[in-house]
Amino acid sequence: MPYKVGLDLGSTAIKCVIADNDGISWSGLVPTAPEQSSLADGLMSKGRSELGVPEGEILPICSTGYGKSLYKKADKRMDELSANALGLFKISGGTARQAINIGGQDLKTLKLSETGEVTDFRMNDKCAAGTGRFFELAARLLDVPLSKFQELSKLPGEEVELNSTCVVFAESEIVSLLARGVPPQSVIRALHASVARRAAGLLGRVTADTVWLDGGPAQNAGLVEAMEDELMTEIKVVPKPQFTVAYGAAMSLMA
Ligand code: ADP
Repeated sequence: MPYKVGLDLGSTAIKCVIADNDGISWSGLVPTAPEQSSLADGLMSKGRSELGVPEGEILPICSTGYGKSLYKKADKRMDELSANALGLFKISGGTARQAINIGGQDLKTLKLSETGEVTDFRMNDKCAAGTGRFFELAARLLDVPLSKFQELSKLPGEEVELNSTCVVFAESEIVSLLARGVPPQSVIRALHASVARRAAGLLGRVTADTVWLDGGPAQNAGLVEAMEDELMTEIKVVPKPQFTVAYGAAMSLMA
């Protein structure tokens, strides 16, 4: 089965997936920057060469994400919600019915039909609270890389809350907690709980046995636990949660 390419030109990261019928064969990402098209081409060339795809072989490409129209060479464009639903549907073996996607600058919830179509969605892209941008801001203030959040959130320390629903106010809240001597792990736990509350609020009633979570921040198991506590239901994370949307775009090209 020849490879298909899914390109997700997201607000924060450009993701490329090269897939066949068995799943993701190659995936890679770069931070979003001007010249998105050439960044996407660079990723794709890297994937092709690592997979040993011959120079002249043309692979069909589907682009998705905020920047999908910027990639002129795509054979197909797909909206990110449909790509997300299709990717999740395939990865979950057709079982996903309710999902949350936390992106760099937005938060989305979706419901899927028994055939993998989007039947309902909600999106918050007006406010950075509950998005990857909130995590990045906290990482800067705490001077701790995002990849350490999960590990740190397990350390003992006083329980505090972040009450601001706006990132601008949450920033001052974090600064004053740190000035008071509150340890980073307490701030991180409060941040996880705050994002979990946002996501749960947008999701509304849990109607499925399992809620699926994807997007970059889904790599943080501390956040996943906070979401399970908030939603009081099982949260499942796909193996490469930042690539679900790109994978769905690639899957849309399968006959
Ligand atoms: P978009 O499609 O909007 O570009 P992504 O799904 O690619 O968004 O997610 C980007 C976000 O993922 C970044 O804002 C960052 O906060 C978050 N992120 C990336 N890696 C990690 C990680 N290891 N742990 C937690 N968050 C992460």
